[in-house]
This record gives sequence, C-alpha cells and structure tokens, in this order.
Amino acid sequence: MMSKDQISLSRRRLLAGASVAAAASFVGGASSVMAKAPMQNMQAPAVYRLKVGAIEATVVSDGPLPMGEPKADVFVGLSKEDLTKALTDNFLPTDNVVLEQNVLVLNTGDKVVLFDTGMGTDKMLGPNTGRLPANLKAAGIDAKDVDAVVLTHAHPDHCFGLTTEGGGPTFPNAQIYMAQSDFDFWTDEAKLGNEMLKGFVAGARARLLPNRDRVVFIKDGQEILPGVQAMAAPGHTVGHTVYMITSQGKTMCCGGDIAHHYVVVVENPRLEFAYDTDGKQAVASRLRVFDMLAAQRIPVLPYHFPWPGIGHLAKRGDGYRYFPAPMQTAL
Ligand SMILES: [Zn+2]
Repeated sequence: MMSKDQISLSRRRLLAGASVAAAASFVGGASSVMAKAPMQNMQAPAVYRLKVGAIEATVVSDGPLPMGEPKADVFVGLSKEDLTKALTDNFLPTDNVVLEQNVLVLNTGDKVVLFDTGMGTDKMLGPNTGRLPANLKAAGIDAKDVDAVVLTHAHPDHCFGLTTEGGGPTFPNAQIYMAQSDFDFWTDEAKLGNEMLKGFVAGARARLLPNRDRVVFIKDGQEILPGVQAMAAPGHTVGHTVYMITSQGKTMCCGGDIAHHYVVVVENPRLEFAYDTDGKQAVASRLRVFDMLAAQRIPVLPYHFPWPGIGHLAKRGDGYRYFPAPMQTAL
C-alpha cells in the first residue's frame, strides 16, 4: 500500500509530467513532435458470439436507447432523487439513463433465428438506434438467410425493424413468431384514438399488418422451433414472452423486457415500469422468471441490459443481483 505522502508525491509527478507534455506540444507546434493517428470516432461493430450447446448464438446490437435524465415514476413510485442515487451508487451517468438493445441471433445448424428486430429506421427513441442491419452484416449474417423472427413483444424497439425504409420486409424469407394477444393489442385500430398508445400502435400496424401472412402465433410452453421454447411472461405487454433456448444440456433464456434496468429493477424487482401495459402482472411474471433462472442457474439475455447483456441472476434478500458473464475473446 502507498502512504498518503507517496500518493500525493506521485500525483504531483504526474501533474508535472502532464504540464511538460502540454508545453512540449505547444512549443513544438502542430504535429512536428509526436506521431499522431487519426481518431476513429466510432465504436467497433457490436457483435458478440457464444455457444449454447451446439447452437451458435450471436448478440447483435441495434444501438443504445437513451431515456434522458432520471425522472420520477419511470419506475413507478421511485422518486427522481432515489433513481439518481441508485445510478450514482452504481457509477452510472446521472444525466441520461441509457438502455441497450441486444438482439439475439441463433444458428442452429438448420435454421437462423432472430429474436426481436430493433427500431428499424424510426428514430422516435433516439438517434443511435437502427444499427441492427449494419451490425448483422458485420457479424456475417445475411438478412435473407434469417428463417425466423421471434418477437418477445410488439413494442417499437422490438418490432419496428421488421420493415425497411420503403416498408418492404427486412427479413424477406422469415416467418414471424409472436403471441396473438400482442398482435391483436398493438394492431387494434381503436387504440389509434389513445394519445398514449397511438404512436406505438400506428407503427406496429405498419410493420405487422403487411406481414400478416407470415405471422405464426405461438402458445405458452410450445417448442416453436427445435430447441426454442416459448414461455409466457405477460404484463409488460399482454403477450410478452421469453424464450428458453436449449441444446446438448445447455440452456439460456432470451429474456426480452422481463426487466429494463440491470440494477434498479433487478435489486427492486417489484418496481413497475411506466411503459408496462399491466405493471402488477409484469412484476408477477418477473418474479416467477427470475426465481426459475436463479434456482436453475440459467444465464439470461435481457434485451435492454448493458452490452452484450448476458449474465446470471441470484437472489439477494428481497431482490436479486445481476452478475454479467465475462466476455470471451475466443469461442
Ligand atoms: Zn423494450
């Protein structure tokens, strides 16, 4: 351990060093002293690969969703101050609550299966969304090769990417799997008159209705594709569904919006979210799914958790704790 004196001494040296370097670059003028490389000003492609038994899984980002400054009742009953404190305590920015969009792609050997589609070209939830197509390409996945698009639910950040700018299908050869209750709710013309819902409903209608003949409705508990089992987890939306993916004795859960924030909601799983259709039911579903995942030590990929979003949940008192899985640099 360094003593306090040593720390302040090395700090002083560091500061002195910094000012010498600053002076050198000032005296030396533009670029004559130090070699410089151009700033890249962009992140590397957001693609992350892992195996689930014999299945190759790839997480592909559609880009971040900024929710803005902490506000009261985004998580119902949580004050702005308490939300800010939770963010501060976890070393997170307090000027912007940012959620990710982690799209899961499976290659089962036989089928390419994509879970949720991101925002597509719609920027209603922020300027950095809509990155899925570019990241899929970077992952070596051709949209034409996608056999199945499986939706956890029909909110904008999960289904708007079904269509391209011109309204054509992004995944022209895919069947679309989803709960009928969500299809019916979010394409319901009568809800266009609801101020709160109309943007979401109009957008979902534009994506889902033209693709109606490709939609396959799923049932709770059904193995919708080999190794992919649907599990109803309603509340966030009426038909919100998570999926259990199993191969060769390994299982992972594609968790959709079972929780939106990896600290605030995991530690306080009884918090309802402002965008839940039925907050109480969403909480009941969350507790049931979390209990199962924790007891069976099954890894989960929630759509909005920090990139790439895979980790475990463990019980801690009345709540849970999220343990992100270490990212592997080799498969
Ligand atoms: Zn979402």
